[in-house]
Amino acid sequence: MTRNTGMHTSIATVSLSGTLTEKLAAAARAGFGGVEIFENDLLACPLAPEEIRARCADLGLSIDLYQPMRDIEGVPDDVFVRNLRRARHKFELMNRLGADTVLVCSSVSPDAVDDDVRAAGQLARLAGLAEEFGIRVAYEALAWGRHVNTYGHAWRIVEAADHPALGVCLDSFHILSRGSEPEDLEGIADIPGEKIFFLQLADAPLLAMDVLQWSRHYRCFPGQGGFDVAGLLRRVLAAGYRGPLSLEVFNDVFRQADAGPTAVDAHRSLLLLREAAGAAELPSPVVPTGVAFAELLTPDAEPVTALLTALGFTRTARHRGKPVDLWQRGAARVLVNTAATARRDGTRLAAIGLESPDPAAAARRAEALLAPVLPRRRAPGDAPLDAVAAPDGTELFLCATGDTEPPDWRADFADLADTPAPCATRIDHLALTQPWHHFDEATLFHRSVLGLTAQESVDLADPYGLMRSRAVANAEGSVRIALGVGAAPTDDTVHAAHIALATDDVVAAARAFRAAGGRLLPVPANYHDDLAARYEFPDGELETYRELGILYDRDAGGAFRHCYTETVGRVFFELVQRDPGYQGYGAVNAPVRLAAQHAGRR
Ligand code: MG
Ligand code: MG
Repeated sequence: MTRNTGMHTSIATVSLSGTLTEKLAAAARAGFGGVEIFENDLLACPLAPEEIRARCADLGLSIDLYQPMRDIEGVPDDVFVRNLRRARHKFELMNRLGADTVLVCSSVSPDAVDDDVRAAGQLARLAGLAEEFGIRVAYEALAWGRHVNTYGHAWRIVEAADHPALGVCLDSFHILSRGSEPEDLEGIADIPGEKIFFLQLADAPLLAMDVLQWSRHYRCFPGQGGFDVAGLLRRVLAAGYRGPLSLEVFNDVFRQADAGPTAVDAHRSLLLLREAAGAAELPSPVVPTGVAFAELLTPDAEPVTALLTALGFTRTARHRGKPVDLWQRGAARVLVNTAATARRDGTRLAAIGLESPDPAAAARRAEALLAPVLPRRRAPGDAPLDAVAAPDGTELFLCATGDTEPPDWRADFADLADTPAPCATRIDHLALTQPWHHFDEATLFHRSVLGLTAQESVDLADPYGLMRSRAVANAEGSVRIALGVGAAPTDDTVHAAHIALATDDVVAAARAFRAAGGRLLPVPANYHDDLAARYEFPDGELETYRELGILYDRDAGGAFRHCYTETVGRVFFELVQRDPGYQGYGAVNAPVRLAAQHAGRR
């Protein structure tokens, strides 16, 4: 296990939702070694500092930083005397708490004057007082500091102050939000490692906005944004820093999200950051090579099997020990599981089987990255399958590839019928919906744990909110997963998952489905009128699309034709005809699809 070895990991309590005690419990459970205690969290906590200290000790957490102390330095003498009095009070509190490092942010006060000599002298006096309490002062340049807003400037002042209890705190947001050209970061090498008292890590999406608002609301975990946080970490480690790697992430979404999963996501991002910076070895990713199966869990098999039958699937095998049937059409395999657990949630896409060249190694990486490893499915005679839970709860089974006949998971099934005649049908992609709090982390999970590549995120209008979508895929396109998130958390339409079946003729497939009694999702005439304006089609083609509800998209690589079945529970199917070069998923058509699905429910 990489967990709890190597560098000490820490998280600022402000990064998590809940009360202080909830935050501490979540951080400890996720495997962090320590926390930064944010003053507001302490002020709102009914526990005395000594009790918080004991709680942290019980949880195995060190208190690595107390923060923030603001507007201390570069002020007139009389103001500084009052500031020292305030500091003494905080240092006494920190002694009770057992915290030995305090964060001092560069002043934003209108009282502050632009005078480095004064700032250095006052910080040295502050450090002298701190030293009496056994405390160190870590001075951080806020990107919006009044006179000190770069790490280089903060370091020049700390160097001039020349006090053993005074060092700098480097914060990746404050540094990288001001520019991350190599020359902007070269100065880090000039700071002796032992004078870097603390390192705070956060990423952020690249946004053009006021830097204070950007910092307070849009920070995210490393790997989720656009900053080269790993490059910064590499430089800080090269300078000789050996202190905690601490996440300080102010984010409006995380503030509302359940602290437990957020803390795990946070810790995973730190593990990945260390890997990216070359500071930790994790088991290498094993990229899945294909989709072995999709598993539907349902309390009522009839509507599901009617849908599969209309889609041309045949029930080919039955599990030897469980109420699970294998349905197959070409290379598309769907398991229908009618276990009693299905009664709670209705019909849903519960699991995905991924073919892997080395399932055990894939599971080791997943485990090292804190993915919950699920108990292996074992009935007497069952092949043990490695499985992990994705952040949305979908079970991911790591299956040996079918090169060895038959693949291990298939051996658990007894044949019911001859394998149907080969046809071009296979699973083109799977679309999963994510809890909206964890969308970015879901992408990071699939990228980092499974080694899939993420495409650009797309924002889509749903009639009742905004929907985001981002796809992850392997290089061959034989595994494609579209991750979507809806704004309406309780809406079944937005939260349905789908299985897209690749065919070489979507018109023929749609007609056959309808002839077999299947119902296709109707698409408004306005959509096809608009298609006629955007593209030229051969005679009669658009009329066929109109009749069958076929949607159309095109990119530089080719065309994509697709249509949808009705929804059963929280699952529907899509029939797709993908030109080999087309890279997308018809996302541009998703608003029309969502509107039609909403209409169908009413
Ligand atoms: Mg900071
Ligand atoms: Mg789709």
